[in-house]
Amino acid sequence: MDRVTYSYDAPVSQTLFDRAALVTPGGVNSPVRAFRAVGGTPRFMVSGTGPYLTDADGREYVDLVCSWGPMILGHAHPGVTAAVQAAVARGTSFGTPGEGEVALAEEIVARIEPVEQVRLVSSGTEATMSAIRLARGFTGRARVIKFAGCYHGHVDALLAAAGSGVATLGLPDTPGVTGAQAGETIVLPYNDLDAVRAAFEADPEGIACVITEAAAGNMGVVPPVEGFNAGLRDLCDRHGALLISDEVMTGFRASREGWYGIDRVRPDLMTFGKVMGGGFPAAAFGGRADVMARLAPAGPVYQAGTLSGNPVATAAGLAQLRLLDVGAYAKLDAISRELRELVDAVLTKEGVAHRIQSAGTMFSVFFTDREVRNYDDARAQEAFRFTAFFHAMLERGVYLPPSAFEAWFVSTAHDAAALERVADALPEAARAAA
Ligand code: PLP
Repeated sequence: MDRVTYSYDAPVSQTLFDRAALVTPGGVNSPVRAFRAVGGTPRFMVSGTGPYLTDADGREYVDLVCSWGPMILGHAHPGVTAAVQAAVARGTSFGTPGEGEVALAEEIVARIEPVEQVRLVSSGTEATMSAIRLARGFTGRARVIKFAGCYHGHVDALLAAAGSGVATLGLPDTPGVTGAQAGETIVLPYNDLDAVRAAFEADPEGIACVITEAAAGNMGVVPPVEGFNAGLRDLCDRHGALLISDEVMTGFRASREGWYGIDRVRPDLMTFGKVMGGGFPAAAFGGRADVMARLAPAGPVYQAGTLSGNPVATAAGLAQLRLLDVGAYAKLDAISRELRELVDAVLTKEGVAHRIQSAGTMFSVFFTDREVRNYDDARAQEAFRFTAFFHAMLERGVYLPPSAFEAWFVSTAHDAAALERVADALPEAARAAA
């Protein structure tokens, strides 16, 4: 493998990054954006159109991050933009109920069958945090099972062995989370039902809920093995615990009904974010009506938000979801498949050990020849190859997630021209990774 060379031809981005570092820790507002794992200059983006992003130096990239999932119709989609402009013109926040949030909740309830009631929040982190509080309030129990390599946002109790940026930066459990906050969290290996069974047997009356990514995407894409989610459902039922399916990443992306549309395992509570906000801060948690009825003001479990159900965010989310019809998912599926085949063919040709794993239209590339079923497998990949691959793609105008532990995202706007640019960049990147 060649030594990794970073392209430093991003002087405006570098200047902005230097400025940012003076006023913001690490120069970014979310850690993975800093390129710490791959090195080099994070690109400061100034605009996006369809499948492309343009950085502050005027270079254009095919975007395979799509804002980490939300931009499923591509950037500046005219339908979403028009809805946002109309909403902004009516006023940006009222702090009262509004029709837009009702319509968005109705859309989610109509689409995702296990969701009978839904509460809107502003981030995926808020959604999982609130779902766990509600599960504890409903069951009167304290303990939570989560899986190593799954990321559910930066909720204190869920930062144990978390994927995403925690995996990218190779952090142990983060300072600032006290023993008391993490003490009720049981971390188990993903895709290991025996471990879950043993945890329930050790504490049959103490576990409030199991929270799992519906299909894991934050250690790279690791779908649940056959029967895993159904097995969780069964164990939760036997022991009176709730099953929380975190669909912040998979929701409205893996399929029209998210991962639920693929495996049909019915959770008690679900969490959503990313796609449902249309590029704005909107997220949600919802599920069984009897559980949701425990939430304030209907019930005693408190949860609130100044900007929850914000009219601009809900207008963007609603417009995006309404545009995501069956045809859009067929298109997304075809684009995702074509890209996977393209990457696979080039890496195979160059003799680079790799595995492409997918969950519906979501996928990622692992630099390993072994199946990745859990966090240990994901961490055993040759991540240094990704670094070389990433920079070679970036130099050739393809923007990948700057981490070997993240999903790649496509949009319905990734047309033949965009895929051709990716195809042109791939051979050199594969050689760099070899
Ligand atoms: N849950 C999952 C599965 C996620 O992928 C993420 C974010 O990547 C979150 C929760 C947290 O969402 P947010 O970043 O909006 O707080």
